[in-house]
Amino acid sequence: MARKLLIAGNWKMNGLMADGVALAKGIAEEVKKLGKVQCEFLVCPPFTLLSSVKKALRGTKIAMGGQNCHFADKGAHTGDISPAMLKDIGCQYVILGHSERRTNHFETNEIVNVKAQAAYSNDLKAVICVGETLMEREAGQALDVCKKQVLDSVPESATWQNTVIAYEPVWAIGTGKVPTTADVAEMHAAIRKTLAKKLGKSNANRMRILYGGSVKPSNAKELLSLNDVDGALIGGASLKVEDFLGIAKNSGAF
Ligand code: PEP
Repeated sequence: MARKLLIAGNWKMNGLMADGVALAKGIAEEVKKLGKVQCEFLVCPPFTLLSSVKKALRGTKIAMGGQNCHFADKGAHTGDISPAMLKDIGCQYVILGHSERRTNHFETNEIVNVKAQAAYSNDLKAVICVGETLMEREAGQALDVCKKQVLDSVPESATWQNTVIAYEPVWAIGTGKVPTTADVAEMHAAIRKTLAKKLGKSNANRMRILYGGSVKPSNAKELLSLNDVDGALIGGASLKVEDFLGIAKNSGAF
């Protein structure tokens, strides 16, 4: 079963109103020029830009997502955003368990799991991130660490329709360093096998597994043409229209 490539941009904490809207409009214009394409686009701006970005994306099929959410629908959670709020503002996706959230906000696999269930209840698809640190990679623990993150962060109710996995080695995020294609291929195959054990073969075979970590137009082709790599989660390079589109154009989907 062919899996549709997903080209996803994680804008992180970047973009004041004017820049964010200009970026979204620029992406929308370029995507329109591509016509019918064999990949799906997703942008995940900061919460403050969601409403304006949604307007800027009108008339396109580009999906929008949040970068995090709480697991509750509402209540006394100062500073948090609920999955219902993301849905209400027009999101289809939410990124969960990004390594920056795991590190800076102490999010555990169990928290990510509960958040993903809350996302599903609100008709949002979860992009669940996993990835090893450099110390874990050098200690030969990368596969075990990521398998455990998948087993514990992905809910039993996950399906290929409501979940995307993003493999993002922590040491490759924002550093310009990228694992070898052999290492990426090995990890993605291991993640798919783990998903099969947890969710059954048919779900695992159709679930998209993105690679993330210093993806650029120049390395997109070799990474995205690997068998079990079904797209990219892009940080820095998603902030420039030509780089984001350049990755898509080099992805093999055209
Ligand atoms: C990310 O943070 O999800 C990411 C992959 O960042 P970058 O592309 O900048 O490495």
